[in-house]
Amino acid sequence: MKTIYVDNAATTAMSDSAVKAMIPYLKEVYGNPSSLHSAGQAAKEALDAAREKIARCLNCEPREIYFTSGGSEADNQAIRSAAVNGARKGKKHIVSTAFEHHAVLHVLKKLEKEGFDVTYLDVHSDGLVTAEEVEAAIRPDTALVTVMYANNEVGTIQPVREIGEVCKKHGVIFHTDAVQAAGHIPVDVRADNIDMLSLSAHKFHGPKGAGALYCRRGIPLNTFIEGGAQERGRRAGTENIGGAAAMAQALEDACANMAANAEKESALRDRLIDGLLKIPHSKLNGDRKKRLPNNVNICFEGIEGEGLLLHLDARGICASSGSACTSGSLDPSHVLLALGLPHEVAHGSLRLSLSEYNTEEDVNAILKAVPEVVAYLRNMSPVWEDLETGKKQHLI
Ligand SMILES: *Cc1c(COP(=O)(O)O)cnc(C)c1O
Repeated sequence: MKTIYVDNAATTAMSDSAVKAMIPYLKEVYGNPSSLHSAGQAAKEALDAAREKIARCLNCEPREIYFTSGGSEADNQAIRSAAVNGARKGKKHIVSTAFEHHAVLHVLKKLEKEGFDVTYLDVHSDGLVTAEEVEAAIRPDTALVTVMYANNEVGTIQPVREIGEVCKKHGVIFHTDAVQAAGHIPVDVRADNIDMLSLSAHKFHGPKGAGALYCRRGIPLNTFIEGGAQERGRRAGTENIGGAAAMAQALEDACANMAANAEKESALRDRLIDGLLKIPHSKLNGDRKKRLPNNVNICFEGIEGEGLLLHLDARGICASSGSACTSGSLDPSHVLLALGLPHEVAHGSLRLSLSEYNTEEDVNAILKAVPEVVAYLRNMSPVWEDLETGKKQHLI
């Protein structure tokens, strides 16, 4: 049975060109970039080249890119640094949203315990926040605004440029978790007024364990890992050269093919959305237009998302319900709850996230399997019986 992988928001397969870019640094060019000899300098050149490529894709300077171990580390470093530097000036307020990734939310929760005050903006039912709401939340003691570029569960794209303008106007640092956006939709840190941005290689066909933090020149960035002077003293540890080289290659490819990939993926996405919404009592989560080209997120009333996933997996379809980080827990996704979905509806969610490797045949197979599995599960569900006999009201 062929596996149909539609969980690309969780992680992607590495591309051939990213693998190819990595291989020389596993064996041939193994020097330490801090060494002065030729083997070290060859590794340093590779690191510099990777930094330049990434900077070109984001429209910043190479020196504004700091390599990290991934998106989570970049989020942690950016938010902690901005918070601590704000506190030094008496600014201990942060503005964010209720539907950030846990790599942001959990840092904010910790900062709250350390005496910071965080405003979590409500997310509208369409999965969006507005720049006006961000502006209204900014106070004289606001040190940081952190709002994700695109949501990892419902795929909604936030008005980042407008939020950036508002932050600039009020002199507040603006960080965005762009892990789902980078390589998928145009991201330009200058035009978007972004001060700090996190990205992760494995969300755009690069390797796992490699990421980057962009930090605008002039914005102070604290040292996150103490030790050697790597990454201009901000992040100690011998660099992951192969990871950086492969990430840079993957991002360059993603940016070069962005329009074509988006066109292909959004056509598949739209077929999936239209086809799956034919299932009665189903609902698309997140705005239909302001969403990533690769994201489908639909709730089916009367079923459990976990059951749906297991049955789809048995048919070779790898999908997701809620985010991978919350799977295994019984609480429905905090993102779907933030959109205002009732618990019982949020439980029956399915996320399909595509890549350019998906095909029309994949979509055909999904459009055949999902309605069958939903009908099967509903047949067995006592909740569905109550809904059908009128004992309970349909919510969607
Ligand atoms: C995957 C993801 C992260 C975490 O990135 P890692 O590289 O896995 O640490 C952070 N934010 C968002 C929005 C993500 O989708």
